[in-house]
Amino acid sequence: ISFDDIPIKQDLKDNIKTCGYYTPTPIQMQTIPTMMENRQVLACAPTGSGKTAAFLLPIIYQLQGPQKKGFRTVIVCPTRELAKQTQRECERLAEGRGLRIHVINKISKAVEQFGPNSSKKFDILVTTPNRLCYLLKQEPPISLENVEWLIIDEADKLFESGIHSFRKQLEQILVACNNGRRKIAMFSATHTPVIAKWCVHNMKGLVRITV
Ligand code: AMP
Repeated sequence: ISFDDIPIKQDLKDNIKTCGYYTPTPIQMQTIPTMMENRQVLACAPTGSGKTAAFLLPIIYQLQGPQKKGFRTVIVCPTRELAKQTQRECERLAEGRGLRIHVINKISKAVEQFGPNSSKKFDILVTTPNRLCYLLKQEPPISLENVEWLIIDEADKLFESGIHSFRKQLEQILVACNNGRRKIAMFSATHTPVIAKWCVHNMKGLVRITV
């Protein structure tokens, strides 16, 4: 399978080439068609296997272009550095599509920007769980009611970093985007029974992918 076999528009194919990607990596071959079919995934793939593009490409494909509503995708990363890197890759792959991508830098600014009356709407939010949960506790809270894809990147690191606190945060995030359309894609570098159990419990029709 090559990128040409995936039914994505030419502009997206051009962006993929501009990034210097010519053949999909194994994790991309399996994850892209699965997420394009709107199926929830637990993907086990080592760092450096191309997992970022594996979830970004189906998201960009589905988002098509900007809409009036806010956050349709939320990507949760363990660190701000990883969130920044993910945002950069997203900007390169989504070039020319008009998608508005936001990474939370300053909490104080974010509080002003994301209230329900804010005119600023973003299509994709890349964040850490701490920052997202802080914004969920504000009055008014950040609105996640339009979220279609919730991506959890480096889930093993997140679950490790104080398993109970991340679990609690994840529950808060799930409640905030509990709109009947929200799907989850979870990426982990290692197989952990705790994550597998959580996914089986919380993700209907789960597809497991291991490379
Ligand atoms: P990741 O696992 O997402 O951190 O990606 C690791 C590196 O592989 C990044 O530098 C990507 O830019 C690169 N990469 C991702 N997909 C491909 C691909 N299909 N072909 C070549 N390089 C890729």
